[in-house]
Amino acid sequence: MKRIVVLGAGESGTGAAILAKSKGYDVFVSDMGEISPMYQALLDKHHIAWESGKHTPTQVLNASEVIKSPGIPLTAPLVQELIAQGTPIISEIEFAARYTRGKMICITGSNGKTTTTSLIFDMLRRAGLDVGLAGNIGNSLALLVAQEDHEYYVIELSSFQLDNCYDFKADIAILLNITPDHLDRYDHQFQNYVDAKFRITRNQTASDAFIYWSEDPVINREIARIHPQATLYPFGSSEQNVAYTDGSHLVVNSKPEVTPLRVPLEELSLKGKHNRLNSMAAGLAAQILNIHNDVIRESLQQFAGVDHRLQYVATVKGVRYVNDSKATNVNSCWYALESMTSPTVLILGGTDKGNDYSEIDELVKEKCHTLIFMGKDNSKLIQHFGGMGVKYISTDSLHDAVQAAYQSAHDGDTVLLSPCCASFDLFKNYEDRGKQFMHMVRTL
Ligand code: ADP
Repeated sequence: MKRIVVLGAGESGTGAAILAKSKGYDVFVSDMGEISPMYQALLDKHHIAWESGKHTPTQVLNASEVIKSPGIPLTAPLVQELIAQGTPIISEIEFAARYTRGKMICITGSNGKTTTTSLIFDMLRRAGLDVGLAGNIGNSLALLVAQEDHEYYVIELSSFQLDNCYDFKADIAILLNITPDHLDRYDHQFQNYVDAKFRITRNQTASDAFIYWSEDPVINREIARIHPQATLYPFGSSEQNVAYTDGSHLVVNSKPEVTPLRVPLEELSLKGKHNRLNSMAAGLAAQILNIHNDVIRESLQQFAGVDHRLQYVATVKGVRYVNDSKATNVNSCWYALESMTSPTVLILGGTDKGNDYSEIDELVKEKCHTLIFMGKDNSKLIQHFGGMGVKYISTDSLHDAVQAAYQSAHDGDTVLLSPCCASFDLFKNYEDRGKQFMHMVRTL
């Protein structure tokens, strides 16, 4: 019997193991870290053998095929041994796709994946399609295929998940943007990361669609170099694209036989320049799937957004509070500030990842009257912003930061949590930071 070994028992590894078991393979799961009790219980329920806190080489090296979790780097010693002995290593997505005929709508990019994936999922659901949400958000594709196969899948893909895809094909591939990220996993070579992202176009033919941001220089250079086989659907700010903005409307015009979709910009539920791009990409995917323009429009107008990304929390004494806790780098905060339409009190700070804050200098001067620093060590923030002429208050807890913001904001202002930093100094993760912020605001 073919032996499948799954390395890593998180969402994707556990899903892959359950699918492999249901297909009759001899399955073994091995995780160097602690497997969470929830996944242990799931594996036990499906009578799947597993080990936690170690990799036993004899149990792993005899695999016919290995499904590797995206979190495990290729440089891990056991992975190197598998490669040296010629054992095929695939991703969970590659494995799952073998067992479904569902149409694959796949989204990747350095920023905007979760938002765009959720928006497309919303559109397909509103259209009444049988659709699953998979990848980095929701369940793993493998678990869905094993338990409730769908006609359509909307899948958020990181570069790591694309790394070990070979025969997998996206019917619709979306590449939102490429900026340097995760370079530690790519030999510090930006091109390796670019190559990983472009794997989303692998195996596509002219009957498939490749949707991409046409103003991204990296994407353009790469398209000119590798000439993807798919039909191209560029989006951007000019009318040369199949989706664009014409000053007052967002226009999606992917099919000559269909009247273009036009939505007034002020009616878009997702605010900010970046979200216009995400809305264009999503609108194109839906139009290509023959979803009626009225349904796409309704989704663009009513989509509630994704938690912790420019999420409206509440209005207290005329002040709007916005949770953008997912902004863990300076670039994300730039987009958040860019979308602000009222005087802003910005709460920022946390674990600094070598940030260069000068990227937001102009927007801070233009939009913010007060900065609240929130972190264990605010010295770098004080040094950078201290002489700018914008008032600042230094705090070392969320409670003090929210109180300081409350005292500083006036009727009509916005208080924006968009930290530019990771959250690990004071919180478990960005979700924890966002949730605590929202709770505190709601009890003001
Ligand atoms: P990802 O899943 O790729 O991390 P998200 O949808 O979670 O992306 O958005 C994370 C942050 O990235 C948002 O808070 C926003 O500030 C920024 N962002 C979202 N979409 C884009 C985009 N198209 N271009 C640049 N930045 C974006």
